[in-house]
Amino acid sequence: MRKYVIMGVQGSGKGTQATLLADTFDLVHVSVGDIFRWHVQNHTKLGAQVRRIMASGDLVDDDLVESVVRNRLDEHDWNYGFVVDGFPRNARQAEFFLESFDIDGVVVLEMPDEEVERRVLSRRLCSQCGLDYNLIAHRPEVADRCDVCAGKLVSRPDDHPEALRQRLAEYHTSTAPVIEIFQRKEYVVSIDATKPKQDVFNDICHRLDLPLGR
Ligand code: AMP
Repeated sequence: MRKYVIMGVQGSGKGTQATLLADTFDLVHVSVGDIFRWHVQNHTKLGAQVRRIMASGDLVDDDLVESVVRNRLDEHDWNYGFVVDGFPRNARQAEFFLESFDIDGVVVLEMPDEEVERRVLSRRLCSQCGLDYNLIAHRPEVADRCDVCAGKLVSRPDDHPEALRQRLAEYHTSTAPVIEIFQRKEYVVSIDATKPKQDVFNDICHRLDLPLGR
């Protein structure tokens, strides 16, 4: 059983690396942000509760987030383990997590704020199939259209400079103490996330003692 948490500021490649880990090692990828985005898109009651908070770059209330994480992990569909992305984001959430689940490793993706800004503000998403693009590193063949389904490319509603500033400030004040809490338990591996994505993945596997080339 492998249970990991992946942390890092938005735009540091958390979602990408969590997906690679999940696909390679048969883990369930639990992205709290994706769960909320699904609710917003599908106009659920929960979606209505979190839509504005998310668009402003603020954090959703701890009780709500904790119940979403608990309900998701209580599904117990993770035979080989899970990788949680976007949680915990503050000290309280970290304490809740450590009381409820044991964890084998915490991956912290390190990226300077200027690089985060450069990447996040050029990030685009297909409005139809959800595929990720980046106007710097992964441009679509036809401007503003998805290469796969020709859907319109859009920015995430929270990928604008004001919300990004808010999220960076929130990350530095609230999330850094989480890393300290995990460091006390000696779970933490810090990874340079500015490298190409396959190199970052190889570094993560190496540091977590995971067999590559499976
Ligand atoms: P993400 O996709 O991880 O960037 O999350 C998108 C948004 O969902 C965040 O800006 C928050 O509004 C909300 N969110 C995701 N995870 C959490 C969390 N652990 N605690 C509070 N809010 C969260």
